Amino acid sequence: ETENVKNYVDHLYEMVKLRNPSETEFHQAVKEVFHSLIPVLVKDPTYIKQKVLDRIVEPERFITFRVPWVDDEGEIQVNRGFRVQFNSAVGPYKGGIRFHPSVNPSIIKFLGFEQIFKNALTGQFIGGAKGGADFDPKGKSDMEIMRFCQSFMTELVNHIGPDVDVPAGDIGVGAKEIGYLFGQYKRLRGAYEAGVLTGKSIDSGGSLGRKEATGYGTVYFVEEMLNEKDLSFKGSTVIVSGSGNVSIYAMEKAIELGATIVACSDSGGYIYDPNGINLDTVKYIKEVQKKRIKEYVRSHPEARYYEGYKGIWTIPCDIALPCATQNELDLESSKKLIANGVKAVGEGANMPSTLDAIDEFINHGVLFAPAKAANAGGVAVSSLEMAQNSARVFWTAEEVDAKLRVIMRNIYKNSMEASSEYGYPGNLVVGANIVGFLRVADAMIGQGVV
Ligand code: GLU
Repeated sequence: ETENVKNYVDHLYEMVKLRNPSETEFHQAVKEVFHSLIPVLVKDPTYIKQKVLDRIVEPERFITFRVPWVDDEGEIQVNRGFRVQFNSAVGPYKGGIRFHPSVNPSIIKFLGFEQIFKNALTGQFIGGAKGGADFDPKGKSDMEIMRFCQSFMTELVNHIGPDVDVPAGDIGVGAKEIGYLFGQYKRLRGAYEAGVLTGKSIDSGGSLGRKEATGYGTVYFVEEMLNEKDLSFKGSTVIVSGSGNVSIYAMEKAIELGATIVACSDSGGYIYDPNGINLDTVKYIKEVQKKRIKEYVRSHPEARYYEGYKGIWTIPCDIALPCATQNELDLESSKKLIANGVKAVGEGANMPSTLDAIDEFINHGVLFAPAKAANAGGVAVSSLEMAQNSARVFWTAEEVDAKLRVIMRNIYKNSMEASSEYGYPGNLVVGANIVGFLRVADAMIGQGVV
């Protein structure tokens, strides 16, 4: 029986590769989910009979569009924009927008696919989507970014709405970009539909706690996982890769819980100080000055800067939080972390660990918190922002934070329970994939052949 299911899943995975040639990141995300679902398919043949997997890997809609804009020199520039509306079984499409030169259909589809299960895991009513453009905001002026956002929205407006598809930020898209996108949406629609985008600034209808939510949520989740083994952030040494929105607030919460952050990074390199990185300086460099992390050693000569982002994983630590980008932590890095005694890994970024790195951690008994579960706090608070916009209310930071904590705890509990129920006790990769899948799959079946 299990053999038949494995063959079915393998065959389907080969089909996905044929249909989506050279989309390696998308293949990787599908492979992980499919593999986790084998015990579900063995237990209940309905999902195979109903062709749920065959349906779920095919986006409901994939939109590609031209984004023409004029730079500060008066030159015309052209970028490519994307939106994948992957699954709407449990709510309107929901997911971030990424502006980064690496953005292509594979990246957008892996992110959109992950978002289906992540969003379902939160227990909120949001479907899965993702978007972006191969636009590099680095080195662009404010007015160039604004013109780009306006052009991007001039097409996107045709595909989104508060009950249709609700984008938010991701790499390269923060409150500023969301503001420009919202301003253009409002002009084109002629209506103040605040719930069409999340991650807005507070004065445009944003939610308190949204900016911090992904990073805080990751730390809340990992703390649950640690506490179960009588461990804690308190007194631990922590590496947090990246120095963007996720990383900064993961560091903030970890410090609040009594951890020492020994290293963080950007795409150029990493800083290391065994006595602890000063977060205020990092925030000032990244959020105010918008400079590279290597600036840090100017005001903190006791710290060291190293070129290259990968070396960060050679530093000894108790807890590693990859919060930069996909596939930043490979097999070699996982081996290094394990040799140096890492106890727990929590993914703040989307798919930061390669598949073989994840296996290595799990096989060596390292506590592992997968992205879909651990970084779901961002999109969860996005959903809380939608709720506030619909009800025309504004919650306090404490109210939002309390809800975020409950959501993260429930994701942890539900994923742990599923991991035991389906024969992989403690394996949160399997548990999270199963919980997210079951909710979406059951909704899809209930809605007929959709
Ligand atoms: N980009 C974030 C994520 O990967 C947030 C998406 C959202 O808030 O819609 O989950």
